[in-house]
Amino acid sequence: MEELEKLKQILWEKGASLIGFSDISELPDNKGYIGAITIGYKLLDEYFEQINENKGPTFEYFHHYRDVNTALDQMALFTATYLDRLGYKSMTIAASQSSNTDPYKGAFSHKTAAVLAGLGWIGKSGIFISDEYGGRVRFATVLTMMPLKAEKPISENKCGNCMLCFKACPAGAILGKNYVMGDARETIFDAEKCSSYMKKNYQNVGRGSVCGQCIAVCPKYKGSKS
Ligand code: SF4
Ligand code: SF4
Repeated sequence: MEELEKLKQILWEKGASLIGFSDISELPDNKGYIGAITIGYKLLDEYFEQINENKGPTFEYFHHYRDVNTALDQMALFTATYLDRLGYKSMTIAASQSSNTDPYKGAFSHKTAAVLAGLGWIGKSGIFISDEYGGRVRFATVLTMMPLKAEKPISENKCGNCMLCFKACPAGAILGKNYVMGDARETIFDAEKCSSYMKKNYQNVGRGSVCGQCIAVCPKYKGSKS
């Protein structure tokens, strides 16, 4: 569709690193929408080098994380407005979401839409992993009444026997199992352990809301050109 190609071009120019479309009409938590547009933004490598060196998060990472969230939220707002003008009711799902019913779940799973769009898979760490960027990518999502179909087939889980994130996690939150699509996140990842550890140990860095060690060690990202 010409409008979608134009939208993609604009989002690339705004800094998006991954863009995907998916049919979410069968998802139970689709909020009544039928399509999702996934917008991914790659985090910069410098901050993961700092995490590996520091054996934990840094202020610079926290600020970068927030900058990327802001950029994603602006792109999602632009996208929803673009679709709205085309006549399709749409809503944005912010990059960093909180819920008043479950502190560890957002209003809609960015990762589920990204996987349905064929952009990558859910790693042992419970985060989204892509061939291009490993886990170094954050997302915002736009839900829409525009009918959409994925441009790529769903990717297989490529974690294999790798256990690097399991070994790196200081909280013991990663259980070391390969994720099976459709299973609850709890089968591979303990969100409460991760969150408690960050709050207790990194309160002086980003108010205990970031860590990044499982992302920094993931070998699926091959590094940016220097
Ligand atoms: S963010 Fe840190 S504490 Fe949480 S799972 Fe990853 S490595 Fe473990
Ligand atoms: S570190 Fe290894 S096991 Fe963990 S998400 Fe990356 S590839 Fe998968």
